[in-house]
Amino acid sequence: MKLILLGPPGSGKGTQARMLAEKYSVPGISTGDILRQAIEENSDLGKRAQSCVEAGELVDDETVVGLIKERIKEPDCANGFILDGFPRTIVQAEKLNATLDAMAQKIDFVVDLAVDEEDLLVRLSGRGTCRDCGAMFHEKTRAPKKTGVCDNCGGELYQRQDDNEETILKRLVVYREETAPLKEFYRKQGNLQTARGFGAVEEVFARICALIG
Ligand code: AMP
Repeated sequence: MKLILLGPPGSGKGTQARMLAEKYSVPGISTGDILRQAIEENSDLGKRAQSCVEAGELVDDETVVGLIKERIKEPDCANGFILDGFPRTIVQAEKLNATLDAMAQKIDFVVDLAVDEEDLLVRLSGRGTCRDCGAMFHEKTRAPKKTGVCDNCGGELYQRQDDNEETILKRLVVYREETAPLKEFYRKQGNLQTARGFGAVEEVFARICALIG
């Protein structure tokens, strides 16, 4: 199971990637999580990525492609992976294809989560993310049982630095310009599927599962 989740920021990729990873017993790989962790640890990668992540801009292709190339060669990816937030540019998608070709592998499914643009700002601005497991909640639509505490692991929920209105708007522009063209790229490649991303988390999950069988 090698699957890419596409969709704008706030479409629910992170939540669905976690659920798919569990169902198919493969790792969920989020470049955003890897970069945030590196920033927290103040590693060289973190230092290079910090200003872009905080401004809602993309980290350079070479850096993120390098991360993914290494990550998908790890033994836990032998049966596949769920990619969340990668690729985000055509160059990244081409480099991913080349890497998989060299490994005699290919992507099985690309699922685009379709959400109305006007919902995205609301979804992102009320979002709480768990510091420990990365699970996401929303003060209105998916409130945790206890305010500020993750239902899954008891970790602290925080508002991501880039989940503020100004940066969210920037991320949406970057998505439209850099990432949305990937839909056409994968449509031409013949493996794009689209799932409606609105409704309860479980409903969206069921739609994705129905698409990929
Ligand atoms: P995410 O958690 O997927 O919303 O990503 C948060 C931020 O990390 C993005 O706004 C970018 O700054 C950076 N980032 C994550 N994935 C990528 C990627 N594939 N290419 C470039 N930058 C990325």
